[in-house]
Amino acid sequence: MEIESSLPPSTPTPLLALDPAAAAARFVELGLKPFHAKIARKEVLERGITDYAQMTALPSAARERLSAELPILSGTELERRVAFDRTTKLLISFPGGPRPATVETVHIPARDSASGKGATLCVSTQVGCPVACPFCASGRAGLVRNLEVHEIVEQYVRGRALGALSRSVVMGIGEPLLNYANVSKALDVVHDEMGLGSRKVTLSTVGFPERLRRIAPDKPRFQLAISLHTPDQEQRDVLVPAMKGVPIEEVLSAGDDWFAQTGREITYEYVLLAGENDSAGHAERLAQRLARRRCTVNLIPFNPVDDSGFGRPTEFSVQRFHQTLVEHGIIATVRWSRGLESDAACGQLRIRKQA
Ligand code: SAH
Repeated sequence: MEIESSLPPSTPTPLLALDPAAAAARFVELGLKPFHAKIARKEVLERGITDYAQMTALPSAARERLSAELPILSGTELERRVAFDRTTKLLISFPGGPRPATVETVHIPARDSASGKGATLCVSTQVGCPVACPFCASGRAGLVRNLEVHEIVEQYVRGRALGALSRSVVMGIGEPLLNYANVSKALDVVHDEMGLGSRKVTLSTVGFPERLRRIAPDKPRFQLAISLHTPDQEQRDVLVPAMKGVPIEEVLSAGDDWFAQTGREITYEYVLLAGENDSAGHAERLAQRLARRRCTVNLIPFNPVDDSGFGRPTEFSVQRFHQTLVEHGIIATVRWSRGLESDAACGQLRIRKQA
């Protein structure tokens, strides 16, 4: 059985899209042994080798045959941007679907590489995004399609080739809860076969309450972050259009249930938009909403996106917001973006390339 089914028949199915049984069958078709398939998968996922020529555990005739017949990955790296701090953004294009399927994957090295800590990888889950937050570049042209399981895994394989990973954030292009079946299967592979621990992966969502409630019993292999962005209902209806009419209290209460069921504390994300949601009053009201909840707030000063109409907050308003939360006993951190000059804002490189 192939995991993958939606690609057009002309697209060669890559090794990463075959489950172990399908891979064994394909290897037999190619005149190889079923156990060779197991070796090849391990070489890719455990050791990060993406060229059969380097799979010395396989007989050399097999390596040649495989190189000619069975691609390992399906994507193409269209572009690589490396920032001054070595943050690297990959623009990857996948075949299949109605429109070009390009996504971004970002490899962010630990600040202090001497500490021996590896990098954080930010992965995408959809091509485009149907949520359409007006400040975010990812949803500009709506949703093109969901990423397949192997396309999500491929981002990890490509990312790890840039340097060892110690953490990952599912915070790239797309809304992971709207492609949850594939995201969940991909994170299983990342956990079981690539060895990235479940507490090292953070999934970020706008927080559809019903979906959140369904996934908590699924023993999720990730930490949860919910993009809140404002304590005010009317404003959230505008900033997160797909959540229009869903009461903020409902989102928070689904978050409470998540914490009760999983024991994993939630991080609330808050993009600070100059003059929109960065006032001291917003901070006060946010603190009231989160009072008595065990959680952390990540404040993300807006990364400018072309023609969005939103602006970057001043350092003063960021500090004031942070300070107000802290004074109310809320744990909060400010996340200044890394690698700003390489189109740091999510989805920005992708839309520029399509322009
Ligand atoms: N759809 C998911 C994950 C993708 S984005 C979600 O909304 O959570 C991850 C975070 O980056 C979200 O909090 C999102 O609102 C934020 N973000 C998007 N564009 C941004 C920008 N230009 N500047 C700062 N943060 C941004």
